[in-house]
Formats: sequence, C-alpha cells, structure tokens
Amino acid sequence: MTDRQLTLGVLGHVDHGKSTLVKAITGTDTDRLEEEKRRGLSIVLGFAFLECDDGIIDFIDAPGHENFIRTMISGATGIDAILLVIAADEGIKPQTREHFAIARLLGISQGLIVVNKSDLVDDSSLAVIQDEISKAMRGTFLEHAPIHAVSARSGKGIEKLKKALAGMIAGKPPRPSADNFYLPMDRVFTVEGVGTVGTGTLRSGSIRCEDEVEVMPSGLKANIREIQVHNQEVAEAVPGQRVAVNLRGVKREQLERGQVLIRPGSMQETICLHAKLQVLDDLPRLPKRNELIRLLFGTTEVFAKMRIVEDSPFESGASLFVQFRCRDAVFVSTGEHFIARTCSPVITFAGGEFLDTSEDLLQLPKEDLVSHLQKLDQADVGAKIIAHIQVAGLRGIAIPALAERATASGSQVDAALEKTNAVRLGNTFAIDRSAFDDLCDKALRVLKDFHEKNPTATGLGLDIFRAKCLEWSRTEIVDHVTGHLGDTKQVEVIGNTVRLSEFNRDDNIDPSDREAINTIEKVFRDGGATTPFLNEVLGDDPSRKRAYQYLKDSGRLIALKDHGGTKFFVFHQETIEAIKKQLAETYPPPSNFTVSDFRVLTGSTRKYVIPMLEYFDRNRITIRQGNYRSLSRIEN
Ligand code: GDP
Ligand code: MG
Repeated sequence: MTDRQLTLGVLGHVDHGKSTLVKAITGTDTDRLEEEKRRGLSIVLGFAFLECDDGIIDFIDAPGHENFIRTMISGATGIDAILLVIAADEGIKPQTREHFAIARLLGISQGLIVVNKSDLVDDSSLAVIQDEISKAMRGTFLEHAPIHAVSARSGKGIEKLKKALAGMIAGKPPRPSADNFYLPMDRVFTVEGVGTVGTGTLRSGSIRCEDEVEVMPSGLKANIREIQVHNQEVAEAVPGQRVAVNLRGVKREQLERGQVLIRPGSMQETICLHAKLQVLDDLPRLPKRNELIRLLFGTTEVFAKMRIVEDSPFESGASLFVQFRCRDAVFVSTGEHFIARTCSPVITFAGGEFLDTSEDLLQLPKEDLVSHLQKLDQADVGAKIIAHIQVAGLRGIAIPALAERATASGSQVDAALEKTNAVRLGNTFAIDRSAFDDLCDKALRVLKDFHEKNPTATGLGLDIFRAKCLEWSRTEIVDHVTGHLGDTKQVEVIGNTVRLSEFNRDDNIDPSDREAINTIEKVFRDGGATTPFLNEVLGDDPSRKRAYQYLKDSGRLIALKDHGGTKFFVFHQETIEAIKKQLAETYPPPSNFTVSDFRVLTGSTRKYVIPMLEYFDRNRITIRQGNYRSLSRIEN
C-alpha cells in the first residue's frame, strides 16, 4: 500500500444512485453508517474507501436529502476531486447543478462524470443525456472529463470506472504542507471501550499520536491517544487524509461537530475575513448591502455581513475582493474555501477562498487593503509571507501567525524573513526592515522633541518614552527598538530615563545654575550619613532648585522621606556606595546586622538610618528578615 490518497466527493441529485454507486465500487454501504456507529464496530466509520494499486481513494457520499448542502460543504472543503452522478432516466436536475456549482466555488479542479442507471434507458436516450451533459459542462473544469455510463445496480461499467478513478490519484494537486495542523471535526461520538472520537479531513499539517491539541473555539486541551486512517491505527496522519482521532482529556459532551482541532496557540480567533469572492452566474437575486448572509466553510457555519472592498460592481459572474464581518468569532486558516448563501430564501450565491483572516486589516486604508489582497491572490508562499510582514507595518507580526496566515512551514518563513532582511526577535516577532527603521526614527524624534522642550533635563522617563512608542507598536518590538538604539549608541539609558546620546544638557546649563550645582552637591556629599533636610538647603532659591533637579535626574543625589514621611533627606550617591562597601567588609553575607548595628557602623541616627535601610531593601541591596538584614549577594 502506498501513501498516496485522494478524497473524492460523490455529488448529484437525490436518488440518482450515489450511495448505491459507492457501494458498488467499494462494497461499503454508506447509508448504514449510523447503525454501524451505534454498534461501535470501528472508530473510522463513515466513509467508504477503495484501495487501488496507486493508493487509496476516500469517498464522501453527500446525503441526498434537503439538508445535504451543509453536509456536503463540511466534507467537500477537504475534497480533491468529484464524482458527479447523473441518472440516465432523469438527466441534469437542480441539485446536480447546485452541487456542481458548489464544487466549482470550492476550487475543485478534478473529477469524473457518471451517468448511472444506464440499465433503465436505451442507447439513443443515453446518447441524448451524454450530449446534454457535455453542453452543460462547457467552460467548466469537467469540460473534457470522460462521461462513464454505468449501472450501479447491475454492475455494468463499474470496473472501467474504478480504473479511471485510480488514474486520478496521480493527477491530484499537492496540498500545502504547514507546521500547524487544522482538523475541522465533522463528527464526534463515543465508542465503547475506546472513548471520545472526532473525525474529519485533515487540512494543512500532520498530526501524531500523543500530540497535544486545542479544541476551538472552546479552548479545551486534549491529547491524541490514537489515530486511525482507513480503519488502521497509524502513528501519523498527513494532510488530505480522512482521520479519526481518539482524544484523551475531553468528554464527548465537551465536544461538538463543527469545532476545530489545532496545535495549541497556533491560531487566533477572528471576526474579520477577507476573501476573493466568485459570484455565481444567472442568479435570481443578490444580497443587498449590509444584508446578513451565511458563510459556510469546513464544519463552521456563521452569520456575516459582507462589504465589497473594490469599486467593481457586485453582479452575477463577478469575481471580487470582499470583507466579511462575522457575527461570532471563528477559527479558520487562510486558503480555506467557503460558500456564501443568502438567509431567506436560502440560496448559494457565491464562494471563494479566504486570503487573510487578520482583524488588523480593518484598520487599513482602502487602497492599501486592495493592494494587499491582490498580492495574496497571486502570490506564491514566499511572496505571501512578505505581503503579511509588510502589511503588519510598525506593529510587526508574531512569527507563528505569519506561518499560519501564509499556510507556510517554518523554513519557508525563515527564508522569506532572510530574503527581505526583516528584523526578527528570535522566534517570537518579525517586523519589516523599513518599518523597523521608521519606528527607530519615530522613537528618536520623541527624544529630540523632549530635549528641545526640556533643555536641562537629563532625559525622558523610560515609562513615558515606552508609552509613546507603544502607540505605534507592541511591547516586545518597542523594547527591541530601545535596545537597538542603545546598542548602536544612538540613545543612552540612565537609571529610569532615556536620552539622545548626542544630547549634552550640560551645554544648556546657565552659568549661575552651574555654580549652584557645585554648591549643593558639596553640601550633600559632605553631609555623608547625617545630611541636612532638603528644604533647608534649597530655600526659595530657583537656581538651587534647578540645580537639585539636575543632580537628582543624573542619579547623583537620592532623596528619601524621613521616618515621619514629611520631610526629605538627600544622600549623595557616593555616600550610599561608601556604606555598601563598609557593610560588605563588616557584615559579609550571609552574616546579618540589626538597625542599631547599622547606626553604629554609619555613625548616624535612627532618623536617617530607618529610611536609608528601607531604601536598601527596596533596591535589593539588603534583604530583611524580621529584625535582621543581610547584604544581598547580588551586586547592585
Ligand atoms: P442517492 O440518493 O443518490 O444516494 O441514491 P441511492 O443510491 O439511494 O439510490 C436511489 C434509488 O435508485 C435506490 O432505490 C436504488 O436502488 C436505485 N438505483 C441506484 N442505482 C441504480 C441503477 O444503476 N439502476 C437502477 N435501476 N436503479 C438504481
Ligand atoms: Mg445517498
């Protein structure tokens, strides 16, 4: 047995013999699956399959009742090819057309046509039907598809049909392989002795036993205990395969059909979807502006409002970019195909492929949005990655999100980032090179403005600087910008402030202030551990007040509130350093000391030593335990 596999959707009008045909081909009675499931024969029931020399074909037999479209879409968005079944005695009927239109909208490009019940008509009627079908298929992907006349009942033509089906395996277009998986569950049930089971067609990415999965939108986590493909236990399932997963850690009641299994954290929920929409031909009615429509994809069905992004007219047969705003948040990958239906009457009017699932696009001006969608519509994976980095602009983009949005693998993302010389923060975030430069310029501009307005201030408070930059970007990137500007010596971070390196406020100091600076610094330096109160030194002298602010900003003076919390003492940085040194000599850690030990050591009084020790504690110079303190081992 080879790994090659094809998922085939069996489509057509009710009673044209789809289920009978699947049984004739595979031996599996798809109409009896519910019963089999109840008996718990196997965990991969449901879908018939055919083993051929070239690989395996999975059949998805769309049920022929009124509810069929829903089921068909949930199965069909994972299908590779279709088998269009038309009864010889009835010919093309409304559901034949609707099923086929949906297959086209879902982007399927491979298929075979079967005229079934050939036993019911004579050769000339058969020729008429075949002619009618050929005409109807003109201009579609089935235009040149062979038409097989068979009888599911008598078995006539079935062997030849099987050979033709096997031939399609080789023509299957490759599925994109991404690191993250996406498994929309079309069925959830319990099997006695096995546990909770979910089935679906695996989209981008592989799954392995013991993989952790997140159930979306619930956010529940579970582990894969067992995977079955074609009723066989396997260690790994690959994209395109119909799989059944036995989940550990969730109960049947916690799951429901329509939920998606993803790699934990690999996808964001969204209410905003952008797509290329293909409107069906010859529609009796199109939805009006702001009309609520139904969007169906994978196993999800959601109400949404649609907006046309371009200026092109919205009419039958049109192909245009649209924005959907969903009423509830959804989980969906880009590249996923969808169907759009009006609500009343329920009519399929269009379908297409999601190009971008990010809510950030809501902020984009129209022209930028159109050009972004155009890039995504044409591009190969690498170019898509680049488009996503570029559109993220100053905010940058999380690298896992980049992989998810472009349905790309980690190495494809690495290559694209390298090619465009994008700035990357390890494996967390990436930002476009020119956006990064722009952000650096903006940050420098903030500092320049600040210095212009505050010529004698040391620098701008780091908090204020960050808050300003966060208006343009996210925390991680702002920190990276600050780090980069520091590393490249464009800015300096001093204590809690940041300034332009080229800025020297000393140049801006008034000569009379310079004198006051020297005087004040000397007073506090000489005061040592028994320094005077701040207000006594400053008085009402504006020059001294400026001088004090200057010394405090540059970290040379440290102001502490007295024990009563009303007045300020000021210690010189050198005094603090000297005391630290004394402590290290007299009470090297882990030895400890009391407040009175410290008072004796510094020759000071309680009034000073309590606030000073509290300052030491706050700054982790000392560690306090009850009445004892010891010097921290970490050099401050
Ligand atoms: P579905 O609704 O398309 O799945 O159709 P079914 O497979 O359930 O078949 C509908 C009816 O057509 C059943 O009564 C079948 O026995 C009958 N049928 C299916 N295939 C053939 C065929 O090749 N010849 C004849 N005479 N009857 C058929
Ligand atoms: Mg059927």
